[in-house]
Amino acid sequence: IVNEEWLRSDQYHNSFLVRPDDALESALKNSDANGLPAIAVSTAQGKYLHLLARSLGVRRVLEVGTLGGYSTIWLARALPDGGKLVTCELEQKHADVARANLERAGVSDKVQIIVGPAADSLAKLQPDQPFDLAFIDADKPSNLTYFLQAKRLVKKGGVVVVDNVVRRGRVADPDEKDSESEGVRALLRHLKTDDDVEATTIATVGEKGFDGFLYALLK
Ligand code: SAM
Repeated sequence: IVNEEWLRSDQYHNSFLVRPDDALESALKNSDANGLPAIAVSTAQGKYLHLLARSLGVRRVLEVGTLGGYSTIWLARALPDGGKLVTCELEQKHADVARANLERAGVSDKVQIIVGPAADSLAKLQPDQPFDLAFIDADKPSNLTYFLQAKRLVKKGGVVVVDNVVRRGRVADPDEKDSESEGVRALLRHLKTDDDVEATTIATVGEKGFDGFLYALLK
């Protein structure tokens, strides 16, 4: 459910900070027309990922959870010539819609979509060409599995961002036993004792409601 006040707030800020963008807007429209759920990152969050990737000077980005490629486009646009983004998606239909959206955005040649369960796809990737940044945004019960794979595949000094770690505060509510919240808790429990990682949660509010990103630096 979209909170109208926060939708207005996002739109207000975006009206100063984000230029109208045909490729991104058509990606959302085309995803919707093809029946994909409206669970992409928000515009402001997409731009944040883009700026983060640019600030880090990334050449290689890993994404888990492609959907229609909305966050993929934001991230791929941060890549220099010769840069590469690998994104893992379970559903062939989502991957097909994403491919069309990436083509329209002119970033298709930089993006490899691997279709199948991400746990299997990630296990097959080799860290010989490490990634600079990973963005994890797929099935939440597998968060820890994806994080551990990202740790193996992202260089030291690289960054792993995990989406939806606050979930309107449900993650911190012991009465909430849903598998998504449990998936976030498993990751947090792991991070408590993982000395290779420094992390923080940035809680956010906007058109997608109250949620947050986990930002992890691999030491
Ligand atoms: N990152 C996208 C964006 O912001 O535009 C949104 C991704 S959406 C929240 C999550 C995606 O993960 C869905 O497309 C879903 O099909 C995919 N997914 C779910 N389970 C998966 C799995 N086991 N392996 C890979 N992808 C999976």
